[in-house]
Amino acid sequence: MNEKSVEKVVIIGSGPAGWSAAIYAARAALNPLVFEGALTAENQDAGTLPMGQLTTTTEVENYPGFPSGDLRAYLKSALAEERLWALPSDDLDGDPPRIVSGAALVELMRRQAENFGARVVSEDVTDVDLSVRPFTLVDSSGVTTRAETVIVATGASTRWLGLASEERFKNNGVSACAVCDGASPRFRDQPIVVVGGGDVAVEDAEYLSKFASKVYIVHRRDELRAAKILVERIKRNPKVEFVWNSVVADVLGDDAAGVQGVLVADASDPSGARRQIAASGLFVAIGRRPNVGFLKGALELTSEGVIKRPIPFSSATSVPGVFVAGDVCDARYRQAIVASSSGACAALDAERFLLENPIERR
Ligand SMILES: Cc1cc2nc3c(=O)[nH]c(=O)nc-3n(C[C@H](O)[C@H](O)[C@H](O)COP(=O)(O)OP(=O)(O)OC[C@H]3O[C@@H](n4cnc5c(N)ncnc54)[C@H](O)[C@@H]3O)c2cc1C
Repeated sequence: MNEKSVEKVVIIGSGPAGWSAAIYAARAALNPLVFEGALTAENQDAGTLPMGQLTTTTEVENYPGFPSGDLRAYLKSALAEERLWALPSDDLDGDPPRIVSGAALVELMRRQAENFGARVVSEDVTDVDLSVRPFTLVDSSGVTTRAETVIVATGASTRWLGLASEERFKNNGVSACAVCDGASPRFRDQPIVVVGGGDVAVEDAEYLSKFASKVYIVHRRDELRAAKILVERIKRNPKVEFVWNSVVADVLGDDAAGVQGVLVADASDPSGARRQIAASGLFVAIGRRPNVGFLKGALELTSEGVIKRPIPFSSATSVPGVFVAGDVCDARYRQAIVASSSGACAALDAERFLLENPIERR
């Protein structure tokens, strides 16, 4: 075996989990290689563009260390010139941003990892062989990489409704994250629509009812799929009204005010009669898809479709030497700070594993 061709740690993914793992692995002198994904139309359609889900949101108010303030000078000094294109123009020019944007936050993480020596490959990992160590990874340019340990941090993709109006009002009243956006002033004491019928939709509705004047749950069936205890609680919530057997047909509003209403139609006849609901927001809670396709079954998944962590409080997976972090193994919290912390844990676990399981070199 040619020792030089085997990486000690390969990290797959470029959200908070991947970059945090890279920062920790680089500082532990493990010289990590990060596959950040490729900037392709396919990834755009699938919601898996490089730098992860945070790049789809304008303001991140709950990541510690970024209170409100003007970050423009800091961003220009911290980031390499050739990465400034990735930031929304408001981050660099015009009125001072109120708070850090998702794109800026994740760019800063990437830069921090690079500062400590992490190497970045702008390709997708498309195939893996995790049956023997060192593991083998094939990327979208056809290059094969071998690795003593792998950290999977490929995140998840939001399932959107697919309406043009939904796209138009993203970050202007349309959201896929109640915990991230629900407390925003635009939703306070206003009616809000949640679409979906599973645990996430019900939990989102419960959470949003703390701020909203009323929460409509639009669901395509006449009963919820959520856990019984959640269903019983939400049905007792006086602020919640159910819109059964219905689908969201359109989102109404204008560019200045954002969302002002939602048109719903009968699920059995979506092009038929429509009802208008006045609302300042639409929260889409019809599911998230963990990005595990490239694994082709190489790691065990849970019944919720995320990568299984068989050992409590560990980032270990079903394959020794392969670790996991972030939303790809998280069906519960799905927040940037949680993804970051699990990335750090995965790097620490990989470091220990390498010490305890050296590969015999001949
Ligand atoms: C609209 C929206 C707003 C949000 N707002 C907030 C907020 O305000 N605060 C907060 O804490 N959280 C927020 N979140 C949640 C937060 O974005 C996620 O919890 C977090 O980004 C998860 O990080 P991650 O590193 O696990 O994965 P992701 O951020 O999903 O990043 C993973 C990335 O890895 C790359 N990748 C995937 N597959 C491959 C592959 N095969 N090869 C190479 N690379 C690959 C892709 O680029 C992918 O995007 C929001 C989420 C959404 C959708």
